[in-house]
Amino acid sequence: AATPSDSPTIFDKIISKELPSTVVYEDDKVLAFRDITPQGPVHILLIPKVRDGLTGLSKAEERHIDILGRLLYTAKLVAKQEGLDEGFRIVINDGPQGCQSVYHIHVHLIGGRQMNWPPG
Ligand code: 5GP
Repeated sequence: AATPSDSPTIFDKIISKELPSTVVYEDDKVLAFRDITPQGPVHILLIPKVRDGLTGLSKAEERHIDILGRLLYTAKLVAKQEGLDEGFRIVINDGPQGCQSVYHIHVHLIGGRQMNWPPG
């Protein structure tokens, strides 16, 4: 289990394409790719290409407001692209109690099945 850290993460290698991933959306700021352990028929991770200290949402500063908005807006675009017209789930895990394992902020987009609430 990872601990909160400013060290490079596996996502740097995904961004650089050193590590293969299935990219579903990419622009100059955001990369979206399929999670290697999908929790539903659709499970995509959206990340900023530059981490800029944003190891997790709890580390957000005012300078991150634009990228945070862009991540959510891109999640909506990708949900549409993936045909998730009946709905979807957005998750940002933060810190040990939030089950965060990769310390490069990421938005989970999960869909294609009925979700449950409250989560476990
Ligand atoms: P967290 O637990 O930090 O919110 O989510 C990290 C996510 O990254 C997990 O859902 C995990 O399956 C995914 N993940 C970890 N390593 C890789 C990888 O090498 N490739 C891809 N595509 N996903 C990964």
